[in-house]
Amino acid sequence: MATNTQDQQSQAGRHQEVGHKSLLQSDALYQYILETSVYPREPEPMKELRELTAKHPWNLMTTSADEGQFLNMLLKLINAKNTMEIGVYTGYSLLATALAIPDDGKILAMDVNRENYELGLPVIQKAGVAHKIDFKEGPALPVLDQLVEDEKNHGSFDFIFVDADKDNYLNYHKRLIELVKVGGLIGYDNTLWNGSVVAPPDAPLRKYVRYYRDFVMELNKALAVDPRIEICMLPVGDGITLCRRVK
Ligand code: SAM
Ligand code: CA
Repeated sequence: MATNTQDQQSQAGRHQEVGHKSLLQSDALYQYILETSVYPREPEPMKELRELTAKHPWNLMTTSADEGQFLNMLLKLINAKNTMEIGVYTGYSLLATALAIPDDGKILAMDVNRENYELGLPVIQKAGVAHKIDFKEGPALPVLDQLVEDEKNHGSFDFIFVDADKDNYLNYHKRLIELVKVGGLIGYDNTLWNGSVVAPPDAPLRKYVRYYRDFVMELNKALAVDPRIEICMLPVGDGITLCRRVK
């Protein structure tokens, strides 16, 4: 009996441990995921775009290959057709989206920087999916305001990926919740913000990490209590929070 109780205690202990830790215990485990199931299945154009982006000085901004694979499958699972992306950079997540949606699918893509989009564009064109993309250069907020003005855009998007200026995410959310259809998804990227969301107040953080951290935490709190959505925060990439509109 005693052994049994001890067993139960150690089992319970182990269970709790697993329940409170990420399963990813090391960089080697992440590398294992990439090498075992991501890189071998990465479509050739995505590989080309990833390698091209790796040479760019701001390559830290790109979506990781495992997140690209996740987005690609998610979009297929929900049969997304009319989509939006805020924050394009060289277009890795854009290409993951463009490859996932049907031939007559659409992506309204916005970025203040056209130059970086044009860096990746030849790869997207070669992949035969550029016709799905409507790129708008400039800040996203005025474009969203314009869309919201016209009621026919309400509830018209199946999927929206937000990966831009974190200090505007809540402003985006106010508009996007009107534009996404009931049952559709909004994905907010970088919601774990380099792990800084749990950093102690005196932690040495890079200036931009510290600056945006409060906005990310504010967003996370707001999404958690928003009755119009169901949410799921995934530790993929730098954290992505999926919001499914329910009303
Ligand atoms: N999704 C991209 C990828 O897969 O490579 C990464 C996007 S990167 C993290 C963020 C992008 O947001 C930058 O390219 C930046 O120019 C853009 N951005 C910043 N502020 C913006 C705004 N107000 N409106 C639209 N885009 C903005
Ligand atoms: Ca991101």
